Amino acid sequence: MTDPAAAYEELKAAGLKLDLTRGKPSAQQLDLSHELLGLPGAGQFRAADGTDTRNYGGGQGLPELREIFAPSLQVPVGQLVAWNNSSLELMHDTLVHALLTALPGAPTRWVDAGRVAFIAPVPGYDRHYGVCERLGIDLVTVPMTADGPDMDEVERLVAEDPSIKGIWCVPKYSNPDGAVYSDEVVRRLASMPTAAPDFRIMWDNAYAVHHLTTEEVEIADVLTLAAEAGNADRPFVFGSTSKITLAGAGVAFFGASQANVDWWLKLASKKTIGPDKVNHLRHALFLKDAAGLRAHMAAHRELIAPKFAAVDRLLTEAFSDVEGVSWTKPRGGYFVSLTVPDGLASEVVRLAKEAGVVLTPAGATHPYGKDPQDATIRLAPTLPPLDEVEKAMAGVVTCVQLALARR
Ligand code: PMP
Repeated sequence: MTDPAAAYEELKAAGLKLDLTRGKPSAQQLDLSHELLGLPGAGQFRAADGTDTRNYGGGQGLPELREIFAPSLQVPVGQLVAWNNSSLELMHDTLVHALLTALPGAPTRWVDAGRVAFIAPVPGYDRHYGVCERLGIDLVTVPMTADGPDMDEVERLVAEDPSIKGIWCVPKYSNPDGAVYSDEVVRRLASMPTAAPDFRIMWDNAYAVHHLTTEEVEIADVLTLAAEAGNADRPFVFGSTSKITLAGAGVAFFGASQANVDWWLKLASKKTIGPDKVNHLRHALFLKDAAGLRAHMAAHRELIAPKFAAVDRLLTEAFSDVEGVSWTKPRGGYFVSLTVPDGLASEVVRLAKEAGVVLTPAGATHPYGKDPQDATIRLAPTLPPLDEVEKAMAGVVTCVQLALARR
């Protein structure tokens, strides 16, 4: 093996400027939706039911677009809202609504409830934590497993503490570890007894159709399971087309029980006289139906699967028999989670940065930016072209090898 320090000096001398930080679609992926920029087209503004999409109104969003997304988000069309471009905004606003106006089944609005806390499975998505940090909602961590959150721990926490009002879940191809919630985990989340009567599951199904293999992984239907268990109001389902069409100009969705949707639409009507239905129409015209959506996602897969394969190949070549270094092999989604021996993640990120390879800050996968083990590094390979992913990963390998050698 080459001397890690010499390899690192060589890496620095190469003067790289590469970025594996955020899960953004590449320009090529955005090009798959280039037709959207010309839609709905001059003179085309009527929805299937004759609605003039240019005007105000239609608070729940265009039915033909909701029909396309209802099956993959596992929400009945009538209980699905199509909104503006960001699901993160929907999650933020929904929690603001819950703070200011009592939820169906809530004894009080959350600002009057004293402490409000959410469970954050870790590693997880930094922007979920950011919403809670901003709104004064405490975060209580539980470990993730390959099948979803550690449910023994979740059940214990929610059973005894009424201030725990919710849990963050990315149930399919989770950010960052690619986990897929097992049917058993979904059933336990939907049916577990909670001390808080107004407990909510933030079901962020951001990667519902983002398969990296030809296997289209299915998860259990949380809304149906919750209703069957007598907890119909428990799940709030979110999703968006940010990584399907245009990340900055897509459509976000909210789905829940009828009581929750009625509560939500009433509050949403205070802040807007309706979502961007022209955008809904052009998305419906572009994707056409659920089959069109599947075909479109297959085209994404062809572009990004080779990048994930490159990450896996370079890590396997370097670390297949190195104790303490492991990584996920996601079947979908946007991330690979690299685990290094405790205490080394921030050193690897620092070394990489010095050599011109920017990684997501170590700790970002944990609340308040603090990974107590300092062991998790999130890799996001979709944005750079394949040759840059390969160069960046070769650099990451060198940095991990140097950090291990210096230990
Ligand atoms: N949820 C998860 C789990 C994500 O990874 C992302 C994007 N990185 C989002 C939500 C953001 O979605 P949107 O663009 O719809 O706000």
